[in-house]
Amino acid sequence: MSARSGPASPAAANGGGTATSSEDLHKRRGAAVARGVGSVMSSYVDRAGGGTIVDVDGREWIDFAAGIAVTNVGNSAPRVVEAVRAQVERFTHTCFMVAPYESYVAVCEQLNALTPGRFDKRSALFNSGAEAVENAVKIARHATGRPAVVVFDHAYHGRTNLTMALTAKNMPYKHRFGPFAGEIYRAPMSYPLRDGGLDGATAAARAIETIEKQVGAENVAALLIEPIQGEGGFVVPAPGFLPALREWATAAGAVFVADEIQTGFCRTGDWFACRHEGVEPDLITLAKGIAGGLPLAAVTGRAELMDAVHVGGLGGTYGGNPVACAAALASIETMHELDLAASARRIEAATVPRLRAIAGRTGVVAEVRGRGGMLAVEIVQPGTLTPDPATTAAVSAACHAAGLLTLTCGTYGNVLRLLPPLVISDGELARGLDILDAAFG
Ligand SMILES: *Cc1c(COP(=O)(O)O)cnc(C)c1O
Repeated sequence: MSARSGPASPAAANGGGTATSSEDLHKRRGAAVARGVGSVMSSYVDRAGGGTIVDVDGREWIDFAAGIAVTNVGNSAPRVVEAVRAQVERFTHTCFMVAPYESYVAVCEQLNALTPGRFDKRSALFNSGAEAVENAVKIARHATGRPAVVVFDHAYHGRTNLTMALTAKNMPYKHRFGPFAGEIYRAPMSYPLRDGGLDGATAAARAIETIEKQVGAENVAALLIEPIQGEGGFVVPAPGFLPALREWATAAGAVFVADEIQTGFCRTGDWFACRHEGVEPDLITLAKGIAGGLPLAAVTGRAELMDAVHVGGLGGTYGGNPVACAAALASIETMHELDLAASARRIEAATVPRLRAIAGRTGVVAEVRGRGGMLAVEIVQPGTLTPDPATTAAVSAACHAAGLLTLTCGTYGNVLRLLPPLVISDGELARGLDILDAAFG
């Protein structure tokens, strides 16, 4: 068995063993599941692995979503399955705050070693990305004694009360869910397609001016930024933007927090996206790709910041659950063993020329952007920069109808994003790109 192997065999029965169809499940869902929880697909999953998902109707999809950049090592990756199975047989939960265990410590050791920066680090584990971001803010405020948190246009940091305040986009994330947490300030992002092509230094100077005039450097606890924005549209800042902000934060005594929840764990062709520009964050938030699909998140960073918080000030019942920790250790091993950063670079090399060809042929693509296995096209009305969310939705729907799972994103809903599992085979990737190409008409 290899990590690249797909689903085992055609489904004779679905996961539950009872004969059912997506249509039946969709009806049951309507009567049982809250409407506010949406799904991209109306098909229900039977099994998934490698670069594909198979639904309960026996239909196979090429997976360009990876559960939103989570299954970087693939679904049910062999090492993860083995580690999880062994762990659930030993114990499932003791709570690290009550009776600690080795795998939590081992995950923290791995994260301290893998993340950018050769300084002394500590980590703490949580359940979700939003929870990691909340804790990074707690740590930064505690360590600095300052209140303000600076975030950026188009940012996405989660859906809890504090992280909704940090997130930029109103619909669907914030609409009618306020009032939101205070002391959050938004600065202009570097977005080369839409800021007139400002270089990184100029865009950073503009953001810094906003911060200094509207917040005051001495009030800033944390500057929080995604090195490549995720839900906001796969926005890649101009080179130099992140290093300039890093430098400003150091001078201002503010904590530079990189939210690598979507970009982390080999997704962009390196272990972490900050490494593309040699940026060393003080704190880094991690989740999504960390544990092969099991819920786990982390804050990793400078020991003196992490350890500033009093004993008992950080934690949570499930944070660093032993099954999730076993999965994380197995995922990290898989990333090393298969060199998934190199796989992400191979995905980029095979995909970008295809996206450029689509751009040239159709005239609706304003920009092809991203890194590694985190790639996107921004779709506009031809000859303009006017966002075209309708065409974006239509292309995505055509992909779904033809057997390719794609996602959209962006403040304007006009970005089609590709996030395949990094273990996708060359053949599956090529088939997916053929479907995508045809979906543009
Ligand atoms: C997904 C995401 C989050 C929130 O993670 P959850 O696990 O959904 O709470 C935060 N930041 C970024 C950059 C993300 O992509």
